Amino acid sequence: MNLALDRARLHSEIEMLATFSDAEAPAVTRIVFTPTDLKARAWLHERCKAAGLSVRQDAIGNTFARWSGSDPGAPVVGTGSHIDAIPNAGKYDGVVGVLGALEAIRALQQSGFRPQHPIELLLFTSEEPTRFGIGCLGSRLLSGTLSAEAAGKLTDSDGASVEQVRLAAGFSGELAAVKLTSGYYKAFVELHIEQGPILEGAHIALGVVTHIAAPASFRIFIEGSGGHAGGVLMPDRRDALCAAAELILAIENAARNSGAIDTVATIGLCEVFPGAVNSIPSRVRLSVDIRDTDLKRRDALIHMMEVACRRISEKRQVSIQTQLLNADSPADCAPEIVEALTQSCVKYGLSFLPVVSRAYHDSLFMARIAPVAMLFIPCRNGYSHRPDEFASPEDIARGTLVLAETLAALSA
Ligand SMILES: [Zn+2]
Repeated sequence: MNLALDRARLHSEIEMLATFSDAEAPAVTRIVFTPTDLKARAWLHERCKAAGLSVRQDAIGNTFARWSGSDPGAPVVGTGSHIDAIPNAGKYDGVVGVLGALEAIRALQQSGFRPQHPIELLLFTSEEPTRFGIGCLGSRLLSGTLSAEAAGKLTDSDGASVEQVRLAAGFSGELAAVKLTSGYYKAFVELHIEQGPILEGAHIALGVVTHIAAPASFRIFIEGSGGHAGGVLMPDRRDALCAAAELILAIENAARNSGAIDTVATIGLCEVFPGAVNSIPSRVRLSVDIRDTDLKRRDALIHMMEVACRRISEKRQVSIQTQLLNADSPADCAPEIVEALTQSCVKYGLSFLPVVSRAYHDSLFMARIAPVAMLFIPCRNGYSHRPDEFASPEDIARGTLVLAETLAALSA
């Protein structure tokens, strides 16, 4: 098999897709089910149809573009990613996994290869949580991780529900019918930019993902007692912000001492009430994001956080309430797909590194119903979710080539 990618076409399609944006270039903003998102989807459909793929959409707008195999009933070899983009993002996150997959399929067609298993390009709806407050909406429904009923009721900041918005966008049918059977896929592979600096720093061409970490996120409410910054003496204080400071350091310390480099904890939001220079903080709201590739280790850290909350609450006479927002399980990549990716890298003489995916991806949820793996390409400085996100055409082409080779191996 002689695979010839059309790099110029792939590059121009990435540039073209970036023009479907509600932000000024080079920034890209493409929120799910906005007119801009729908135009981008329509353009992508045309590209898929031009490649001879048959396109179907489900009730939430997940889009499947199929290249039939010689055994049409065989389990599918899937690939794909998302094209929605958070406000003021870049043009590569998700997009390289969609357009790279399309180019990989075209290169396979061109080479004369004919798959036995169907190969499907999958465009996931709403990987980003921007509009409905929850990430990976499409893949959660595909995998049955989120019920159709709960999904339909999610609302955007204007109060419009998923149910209303998707119907208005032209996606009909029952949300309950979105879920795929667990035998649907033989394998699913997602090509993605790394969104971290490891590959670039080590001058490695590709990252073969072995584990996908999953976050658990919390809101923490601390309530103490306010008062005049001059009037209330130190022994009498129940300062909510001082309690928050102690808690933040306790969580950091627990994460640092977990014994594994893959344990991370982040307190990204801290809201202080009343927020005046001469007023003792009476209330604080924190956000906590805890991630790991190992569920037991992550849950142990959550337990340590809860113990710290009780200790600090007692010591400082403040009330501390934790609210669990979401806790998805991490996923292990399927050894047979990891092996196929590895063999493809070896075949083309490309350097590669086994890596961990620390960001959320649709593959995390697809892992519930399919053997999955991911392939990372380097991105400049590890930047992502910002306008200067960049992956070079050479790196994108390398990833696309290895993806094509892997799809061929899995679908033969
Ligand atoms: Zn992404």
